[in-house]
This record gives sequence, structure tokens and C-alpha cells, in this order.
Amino acid sequence: MNEKIKMTTPLVEMDGDEMTRIIWKMIKDILILPYVDLNTEYYDLGLVHRNETDDQVTFDSAEATKKYGVAVKCATITPNAARMPEYNLKEMWKSPNGTIRAILDGTVFRTPIIVKGITPYIPTWTKPITIARHAYGDVYKNTEMRVANDSKAELVVTKADGTEERALIHEFKDTDGIIQGLHNTDKSISSFARACFNFAIDTKQDLWFATKDTISKKYDHRFKDIFAEIYENEYKEKFEALGIEYFYTLIDDAVARVIRSNGGYIWACKNYDGDVMSDMVATAYGSLAMMTSVLVSPDGVYEYEAAHGTVQRHYYKHLKGEKTSTNSVATIFAWSGALRKRGELDGNTALSDYADKLERATIQTIEEGIMTGDLAALSSIPNKTTVDTEAFLVAVNERLAALMK
Ligand code: NAP
Ligand code: MG
Repeated sequence: MNEKIKMTTPLVEMDGDEMTRIIWKMIKDILILPYVDLNTEYYDLGLVHRNETDDQVTFDSAEATKKYGVAVKCATITPNAARMPEYNLKEMWKSPNGTIRAILDGTVFRTPIIVKGITPYIPTWTKPITIARHAYGDVYKNTEMRVANDSKAELVVTKADGTEERALIHEFKDTDGIIQGLHNTDKSISSFARACFNFAIDTKQDLWFATKDTISKKYDHRFKDIFAEIYENEYKEKFEALGIEYFYTLIDDAVARVIRSNGGYIWACKNYDGDVMSDMVATAYGSLAMMTSVLVSPDGVYEYEAAHGTVQRHYYKHLKGEKTSTNSVATIFAWSGALRKRGELDGNTALSDYADKLERATIQTIEEGIMTGDLAALSSIPNKTTVDTEAFLVAVNERLAALMK
């Protein structure tokens, strides 16, 4: 065999929890270490170590990501009440993803991995639809009240000089009611827009964006204007040079067009639209276990992961010594995405080529009929073999070894 591929700059490696932590090690041992002289700066984001470090390790891993530019993350437990006694936690630590996203000021892009034999519920979606969700503000940071009959509700803004600007929301007559106050910031919307434009350039795909600006003439319209302004001033020429398009439309028109489309573009969504549409799109493509996710900051820092969680139920089976058939594809693609990006940034084509081959070998394995149980239940391939977690990785490696010759 040839010499192992060298890495000049470290990749930030964020280890995680439960079944995905088991898979993490298997992927490294079976698919990566035989080919790559892996250079990572390792952070253990497993819940045990987060608790030991009072969650400092999460903050450190995000700072390291800023420094080196690329990270790969394993799924992690977001603690709830049940996890407190299970892990003997000092505190109910926050979601690591939330912490990292806040530090990197990033946008999450989710892309389905498409394989022959698994037909989306919308069969015309032959190419992936990547959803970008603006993960700040709107209804997720709202203030709401129930309002009694005969009340008058107003919006009041107190300016720096103490003067007030007021607008009537509603005068309640003959009935009680409800009100809600939302906000967003030009800064956050601009970061979101830049992350989306950068990602479109990076992946050479069209970018779609939609709001309800005809009804929301100030709030949603502001999103439309910021995107348009940044596009004109900073990205138009780059888009034209690549032959890709920025396309804005109304959200209802966008939904209709998405259904009729073949996929192959990025769909930027406001926070609530992204929450709802990402679940719809993920379901339509068949499986959360086939969905990759990348967090991109406006200054071009990338963190790759699988979209699914730690697959707790499989982990408990694993702990009892039972065989599991857990799908490692999204986690493999997190590694390949991160290694390819590292290769691109460092001018290390051997590393990027390896990442391409790792993905090809993974898809080839499934298309040749070898897959984990979740995919076997979906695939229309006639002769399929359902394999356990490790046997799948071994089968991928047989194909990878041939491609690497
Ligand atoms: P989950 O880990 O995504 O799993 C939910 C179910 O989906 C599994 O029980 C399994 O179904 C199926 N599934 C998901 N990924 C699979 C895979 N790779 N292969 C095969 N089947 C797969 O969600 P959860 O059980 O709700 O959450 C578990 C933990 O993950 C929680 O502590 C949560 O906080 C955490 N979480 C982390 C992240 C992240 O780090 N990004 C994201 C979401 C959740 P069957 O049991 O029917 O086989
Ligand atoms: Mg949702």
C-alpha cells in the first residue's frame, strides 16, 4: 500500500456520546487511520467530560474551530431531567450545538445523501435540497401575553434620546385575546445572508430565499432587502462567474416550486420556516440517518456533523452485548466533508481525493445491496443484505481499499 496521506493543519475533532461515540471510533479505525496520517486536535464533548470540565471543553472546542477553520463533530447528548441521575450531572448543561453555533455565529446547512434504491417520497427530487435555517430570533425569542377584554395593545420603542414611538396592535373589544412581540437584528440577518451566499459558492449551487414580504412589509421585507443588498454589493459577480443564481420569491411560491423541482439547490429559510421545512424535507428524502449537517460561519469556518442524535436506543442494546445495525453514513460524511474542506484550505489534493473516494465507497456499498437495517427497510434494491454496524464499515472499506489502489 502507498504511504499514508499527510495533513499539514490539524482538524478539530469533537467526540460525543452513546452509539455515535462507538461508531466514531470504528470509522477512524476502519476507514480513516489506514489511509490518513490523521492530525486532529481532540476535544472530548462526551457528557462525562463536559460535566468534569463544567462544559469548558465545549467552549474550547469552538475557539479551536475558529482558529483552525474546520471541525468534525460527533452527536452529543443534550441533557434533560433523565440524564441528571444517569450521568450524575452537576448541572443540566446546555446543548453543545447551541453553544458552538452562538460562538461561531453560524448557519446550519442540512443536506440529504442520495443513493439509488431509496426513492424520496417526492420521486422527482433526484438531487439533494439543502436547507439553511436562520437560527436566531423571530418566534424563538418572542415575548407574548394573553390580553383581557377591553385592553389596548401597542408596540412601544424607547429610543436612545428617551422619545417613544408607538403603534397600535389591537383594541380588544368583546373578547380576550393574545399578542406576541418578535425581533431580529440587521447584524444577524446579514451574517445569515453571507453564510448562505458563501455556501452557495462553495457548493456551486443556486440559492433560493423566500419570506412573506407582501404581508409583512417592514419585518419580512427587511430580510429581503438585506439579502438583495449584500448580493448586489458582494456576491453578484462571483455568482455570475460560476453560473449560479440567487433567486428570491414569496414563501408560498417557493413551497410550490420546491415540490415541482428536481432539487440541487440551497433553500435559505427564516427561523420558523427552516424548523418546519427541514423536517418535511428530511422525511421526504427517507431517513434522518442519511442527512448531513454543516455549520458555516459568515467568515468561513466550517463544522461538520450528522443531523441525527446519539441513537440512544441502539446504544443500550450495544451495552447489553446485543448486535446493533446502526447507520454510520451521516457520520462518515461528516468526516469526509471535514477532511475535504481541510484539503481544500491547505491545497492538499490527496486529502480531498481521499474524502471523495470515502463517499463513493460508502454509496457504492449501499447501491450494491449491503446496508444497515434502517435502509434495508426503505431500499427497493432486490438482493439486499442487512448487516450490523461494524460489518457495514468493513464492507465500505473493501470498496475504499480498491479505490485507493
Ligand atoms: P436520535 O439519536 O436521532 O434517534 C432517534 C431514532 O431514530 C433512533 O432510535 C433510531 O430509530 C433512528 N435513528 C437515528 N439515527 C440513526 C442511525 N444513525 N441509524 C439507525 N437509526 C437511527 O434521536 P433521540 O433518540 O431523540 O436522541 C438521542 C440523544 O441525541 C438525545 O440525548 C439528544 O439530546 C441527542 N441529540 C443530539 C444531536 C446532535 O448532537 N446533533 C441531535 C439530535 C439529538 P430506531 O430506534 O427505531 O431504530
Ligand atoms: Mg423542527
